[in-house]
Amino acid sequence: MIPVLDIARRRAASYRAIVGEQVVDEIEQLAADLEGARVLHINATAFGGGVSELLSTVVPLMNDIGLACEWHVMEGDPAFFRATKAMHNGLQGMPVEWSAEMAETWRATNRNNARMLEDSWDFVVVHDAQPAAVLAALEMESGRRPSGRWIWRCHVDLTDARDDVWAFLNPYVGLHDAAVFTLGSYVRHDLRPQVMIIPPAIDPLSPKNMPIEKVAIRSCLDRYKVDPNRPIVVQVSRFDPWKDPIGVIDAFRLAKTEVRGLQLVLVGSMADDDPEGWEWYERTVAHAATDSDIHVLTNLDGANSFEVNCFQRAADVVVQKSLREGFGLVVSEALWKERALVSTSVGGLPLQVVDGSTGRFATDSDDFSDQIVDYLRHPEERRRSGLAGREHVRQNFLITRYLRDYLLLFRHLGAPRLAEARQPVELTA
Ligand code: UDP
Repeated sequence: MIPVLDIARRRAASYRAIVGEQVVDEIEQLAADLEGARVLHINATAFGGGVSELLSTVVPLMNDIGLACEWHVMEGDPAFFRATKAMHNGLQGMPVEWSAEMAETWRATNRNNARMLEDSWDFVVVHDAQPAAVLAALEMESGRRPSGRWIWRCHVDLTDARDDVWAFLNPYVGLHDAAVFTLGSYVRHDLRPQVMIIPPAIDPLSPKNMPIEKVAIRSCLDRYKVDPNRPIVVQVSRFDPWKDPIGVIDAFRLAKTEVRGLQLVLVGSMADDDPEGWEWYERTVAHAATDSDIHVLTNLDGANSFEVNCFQRAADVVVQKSLREGFGLVVSEALWKERALVSTSVGGLPLQVVDGSTGRFATDSDDFSDQIVDYLRHPEERRRSGLAGREHVRQNFLITRYLRDYLLLFRHLGAPRLAEARQPVELTA
């Protein structure tokens, strides 16, 4: 049995006013041929991080357009999440020890989760490395391939993956019918399944991104003792080495020497599948020391989606100082809110930040500080880039585009159980 997740309902029709009639019409047309198709998404956490953010919108939207879509969040113990965090870090290029014991923990948890999937689906989307052995486990258990098309959705940048970690994972990924990546450059040359490129997207109607009254933003700032009358820099990201919260504080300190009264808000949720989170939170708090203008907040302080929305809207400058980034949904979230944005140019960030137009690139803390100070001194430039950012996101990174790409992928792969008469369409994403 798959545990039922409590996710809010979404209607495709609600997006018409934002993206235009044509976009939603096309989604409905594409979905018509897939009516009743059973879709299962599997990932490692219901909360925290970009994948759960995406699924909490994609799953109800797929249901709304006539597919029968379910979401299985893996069950695992701390040893499993320690193993998958090591695997995740290794896939992003960090030297890690990938031991035989970790490998066995990972396989065993995948086997246990596979046993919970007693049904059959037309399409199964396996998100990231944590559940990548579910298909292998099902094949082994039953002695035959489970029905349906199996898609491995990789959200991370594999460019510098450690050889041993990738060599371990690759045979499991290789059993899938297709693999989906955010960028063409993330794809490993030795990957077997056919590849599709689908960058992630944000939901403009979620509590994270919906419009909010100024008075509510103000009351949120009051609640966290952030002064609305002084400039605010914000980074919203898990406490994680790749998000470089320490470097953000260094940049802030430099900028503060030039901009009196500058405040920094770091918001980071503690994801269920991220055992490193607390360690990096502690390090960040220690680095902030006694500076009362640095606010380090988590979901445990009540800083949830709505508060993230408020802080992003209240920010004079949003920063994203990632050292590696699969995509970085937070950047699209900030651009959608017409924020001035300074980010590194790693991974999927350049898809969203067009340097000098929708935001600015920076490298180290010095450079971040310079760009922050310059933006703060040029409000018109901030306004202009915020408007360009919102339009860029509207055209490229809203959930309707993401949904459309998945429908195209499903139609392209075809489902044996569905009507035969369907014409495959070319995948243009
Ligand atoms: N997020 C959040 N609260 C936080 C930190 C992050 O809700 O305190 C959300 C953030 O708004 C975004 C997602 O988690 O929607 C992070 O996705 P992203 O792709 O930026 O990074 P990931 O965590 O997947 O590496």
